[in-house]
Amino acid sequence: MASDPIRRTGLRPEFWKHHALEDLPRAEWEALCDGCAKCCLVKLEDEDTGAVAYTSIACRLLDLGTCRCGNYPLRRQLVTGCVVLNRDNIEEVLAWMPSTCAYRLVHEGRDLPDWHPLITGDPESVHRAGVSLRGRMVAEYDVDEEDWDDFVIAERI
Ligand code: SF4
Ligand code: SF4
Repeated sequence: MASDPIRRTGLRPEFWKHHALEDLPRAEWEALCDGCAKCCLVKLEDEDTGAVAYTSIACRLLDLGTCRCGNYPLRRQLVTGCVVLNRDNIEEVLAWMPSTCAYRLVHEGRDLPDWHPLITGDPESVHRAGVSLRGRMVAEYDVDEEDWDDFVIAERI
């Protein structure tokens, strides 16, 4: 199992309250991710309406134990559908990102929840709070693509 890769030392105190997402240095940008893994679930898009539905199927690169990407630096090359949130696509991507996502909260001018690792100093707090998907996902390799519809859990999580 991979260890938590996020460095949360040397960051400005409560930087998310005082600086726009677009202005954050890389370390603070990366530290905002709470490790919930919700955005790494396989999602299905309705061809007619464009509506996105989440399944309980984890991307094949996700470490189901840590809820972290198994190869973060090469994720785009290894998984065609992996969407990398950045300053240029944030408006578009946040349209389907989970309601608890820290990037969404900060973008909307809201504070981080009390279970966020930046508040607790502990990467396990997102799991203890029951917010992450740990223990509630199935591996992509274990589900035939023709059965993905059977694993839809919600349109927004
Ligand atoms: S939904 Fe947001 S906070 Fe959760 S893993 Fe994805 S980017 Fe990180
Ligand atoms: S490639 Fe990594 S970051 Fe992208 S969806 Fe899969 S597990 Fe998540």
